[in-house]
Amino acid sequence: MQNFKAILDDICETAKNAKEKGTVASYIPELAAVDKNNFGIHLRTLDGLDYGAGNFETPFSIQSISKVLALSKAMALIGESVWKRVDVEPSGHPFNQLALLEIENGIPRNPLINSGAIVIADILLSHLKNPKEDFLNYVRELANDTNINYNTAVANSEKNTGFKNYAAANLLKSFNNLENPVDAVLDFYFHQCSIEMSCSQVSKAFFFLSNKGGDLKKIAQLTESQAKRINAIMLTCGFYDEAGEFAFEVGLPGKSGVGGGIVALLPDHYIITTWSPGLNKKGNSLLGMLALEQFTTKTKLSIF
Ligand code: GLU
Repeated sequence: MQNFKAILDDICETAKNAKEKGTVASYIPELAAVDKNNFGIHLRTLDGLDYGAGNFETPFSIQSISKVLALSKAMALIGESVWKRVDVEPSGHPFNQLALLEIENGIPRNPLINSGAIVIADILLSHLKNPKEDFLNYVRELANDTNINYNTAVANSEKNTGFKNYAAANLLKSFNNLENPVDAVLDFYFHQCSIEMSCSQVSKAFFFLSNKGGDLKKIAQLTESQAKRINAIMLTCGFYDEAGEFAFEVGLPGKSGVGGGIVALLPDHYIITTWSPGLNKKGNSLLGMLALEQFTTKTKLSIF
């Protein structure tokens, strides 16, 4: 049995003392105010044991981490039909790149880049009765925590500056790959990204993607095979144009967000979440990636 608590404490200590902490995302003005000295890490093992270090109970803006939860809900609602509207190939380009979308006739490369997530948001808007309320309840149920909320200031901040997302949504609409009005889809998308959760809440919410997530799979209404597919998409597409680097350094399926969070999992063993707001040049949390690299190296627990 490994001493996970000691390993996390050690990683946290290294991160807190790091001189280079990356750059906090400022293109969403509301995120720019977050202190980059925060660092949290939380591990949930499949036997339900929790270990945390640093600011692992502090809520942060989950941003693109929400794309995985939105995808799982869309798959539960319409199953295989999702793949008529979005592909499953890594893009090799930044999360908000538009050129490929035009070349590929409005079919986004995958559901974890912005254009793909906007299509998924459109699916949820079409199929949920009260989309924002129902999606938030779904996330709360997965995490078993009713304290999770949208941060409307963050959602509005992004609405005012999200020109590239408006461009992507308009392009999708022009290719008939959005059923709902652009404004309505983006309002939902900006809200889903603005959800605030702590590392421990994220680890709990992602438990259903581990092989033994039994009861939670029932809440998520996903089959084992659908969960397997989501993990595959996270491995190949979860880190913008740095998915290869993350697989190379860390070796786990996972998803990052520009709020500085990263969730990753080893399907038979654990879910781990880090939060450090400073990002590297590719938009992934600088210290979060280093921390996860240290974790899989020290524990020898990765998929490879
Ligand atoms: N809401 C952000 C955007 O659409 C999410 C980006 C991210 O976390 O990668 O730009």
